[in-house]
Amino acid sequence: MPIRRLSALTVNRIAAGEVIERPAAAVKELVENALDAGARRIEVILAGGGIARIEVIDDGCGIPRDELTLAIERHATSKLSDDSLVRIATLGFRGEALPSIGAAAKLTLISRPAGQDGAYMIKVAGGAVAAVVPSAGTQGTRAIVEDLFYATPARRKFLRSPGAEADAAERAVWRLALAAPEVAFRLVSDERVLFDVAAQSDAARIAALFGRETAGALLPLESIRGDMTLEGFAGPATLSRATTALQSFVVNGRPVVDPLLKLALRLAYRDVIAAGRHPVAALRLTLPPDALDVNVHPAKTELRFADTNAVRALVIGAVNRLLAKPASLTAPSASHRPLLNLRPASTAWHTPPPSPAARGFAEAELALLAPPAARQFDPTPEPQSHPLGAPVAQILDTYVLAVAADGALVIIDQHAAHERLTEERLRAEFQAGAVATQPLLVPVVVDLSPADAARLLAQADWLARLGLEIEAFGPGAVLVRAVPAALKNADSAAMLRDLAEEFAETGAPVSLEARLDSALARLACHRSIRAGRRLAPAEMAALLRDMEATPRAATCSHGRPTFLKLSRAELETMFGRRG
Ligand code: ADP
Ligand code: MG
Repeated sequence: MPIRRLSALTVNRIAAGEVIERPAAAVKELVENALDAGARRIEVILAGGGIARIEVIDDGCGIPRDELTLAIERHATSKLSDDSLVRIATLGFRGEALPSIGAAAKLTLISRPAGQDGAYMIKVAGGAVAAVVPSAGTQGTRAIVEDLFYATPARRKFLRSPGAEADAAERAVWRLALAAPEVAFRLVSDERVLFDVAAQSDAARIAALFGRETAGALLPLESIRGDMTLEGFAGPATLSRATTALQSFVVNGRPVVDPLLKLALRLAYRDVIAAGRHPVAALRLTLPPDALDVNVHPAKTELRFADTNAVRALVIGAVNRLLAKPASLTAPSASHRPLLNLRPASTAWHTPPPSPAARGFAEAELALLAPPAARQFDPTPEPQSHPLGAPVAQILDTYVLAVAADGALVIIDQHAAHERLTEERLRAEFQAGAVATQPLLVPVVVDLSPADAARLLAQADWLARLGLEIEAFGPGAVLVRAVPAALKNADSAAMLRDLAEEFAETGAPVSLEARLDSALARLACHRSIRAGRRLAPAEMAALLRDMEATPRAATCSHGRPTFLKLSRAELETMFGRRG
């Protein structure tokens, strides 16, 4: 076949694959155009996760009637005055978004610049452009995208559920709204208002989009290094979250998802936050435009910094200084904790332990460990005959040591083990349709972001079957009326926030089973014996017996092992007693 030039339509469809890989990307491009147009107010309306319809309305400068055709042409932009790509001050500059959308979907642009008499409209569907016609409209631009990827069915197949696509689109608007607090934003998805925020200060915007309570715990940070400035807010070590969802980075006004910045933040918190948990931060980095290349990827969310070491050092230095401040020192000190809480097996079964109350156990926590009184003075202790053996000691207030009948040494992680027990118990109750519910005497109001609140409320029906009864309480707040009895002493606010994050991350899974799995894992975590809690011998024994009776007890909800076992043979090999 001879070489031939690709048609404009084919080129646009290829570009669409890169620039508009999912509805969230189209939403991002359209909102960026609105911001570049100097809008003071932007409204985004989604239907069916943005696959069916995306509408972005702004009150910006508008597109003059005679430029509408050019706006949807490839590589046509009003944002680069010359051919240098060095000082890019706008969010867009590649002139690719509108033609790409027009090639993959049905795009309608209605626009009216100040001073023009009336609005004009242009439509392009699957690359076919219709004539510019008069239309109704106030100052600004309305962009409507319908049936995304109808013209490129191969791409359509890769879309996730409308719920998951809606979540991704919401994240995109969330990031842009954090980058531009001086602009009012309203986001509606399938007729639900996810957020509606007026023009406001940076701090107020963060409070509105992170949730007031979380934002209230953040500490301000500012650091200057050469001609770079880092400012914003970051959490103390105690504010860790299960995901990186509450991390926002803005570089020269552009929201970015940059691996270097994410990693720098993770490193800065490495020593103070447990593995698998993530800090909360909203950071804004400003540096000379020529120290930065935003033209790395068509989506423009990744960057290339001229001096990566300096950027990393700036972030880590600023966070370290913040964490060194007394206000962030809320974690309990480990120095008072005895290193070894050794209980010889010979006395463990005959010495009554101090009363539970004296040890500071909550009543419900003991109840979960099965009736302690019955087990404390078990008259026929044949514990060695159990697979996990008899407890002989607790180490670091975290691990239980046990010896099995066959001489194997068993080491149990008390928190991991208990987490699994709680989860399985809740699951069994749920499946039997008999979850014990604990109504709260005083219902608890939990402040969340409006999006998180909406996400939780959408699951309210089956959460009620799980014993967690919630209802709407104004925008961004949820009222907790009842909790599963097994979780009655847990912090309901922390629990709800974790659940909301879980639903955001898993994108409201379709099957009840998948939802249940993720919810149970998150809930169980809130109700489990902490590492660092001294256990009475009877409690240790009860824990082991419960583990033996519980399915999947060998790993915790996060997949980590709950116990390790060293057989007698393994011990003998290690000590060179057998060869
Ligand atoms: P880019 O943003 O990279 O320039 P786009 O394809 O997104 O490319 O948009 C093409 C042009 O259309 C822009 O340069 C701008 O002049 C115009 N335009 C697009 N959206 C808007 C809007 N909401 N308000 C005003 N002008 C717009
Ligand atoms: Mg653009």
